Amino acid sequence: MGDISWFFTGVVFVLILLLVLAVVLIFNRRRRAANIVAIGSYKRRTATGQKCSLCKRKDKLQFYTMNNGQVAGVCKECRATAKKNNWERV
Ligand SMILES: [Zn+2]
Repeated sequence: MGDISWFFTGVVFVLILLLVLAVVLIFNRRRRAANIVAIGSYKRRTATGQKCSLCKRKDKLQFYTMNNGQVAGVCKECRATAKKNNWERV
């Protein structure tokens, strides 16, 4: 009797664990997809007449993700700053 109830407790525990794991995985995937969409729309919105996020000069920009997660458009001259801060190229 005792052995069987322990077995079922174990099975239920593993099932709950798998369920939690599945929910976490699905949630993470959705959040990542939302992030990609946000970056894509940011790029489109600033496609023309962009100003550098750092020196505010109009120039052809490259986009970097800053350490706080925000996307910054950076001109040729400020690219060194982006590299120095290890910002990730979008
Ligand atoms: Zn600049």
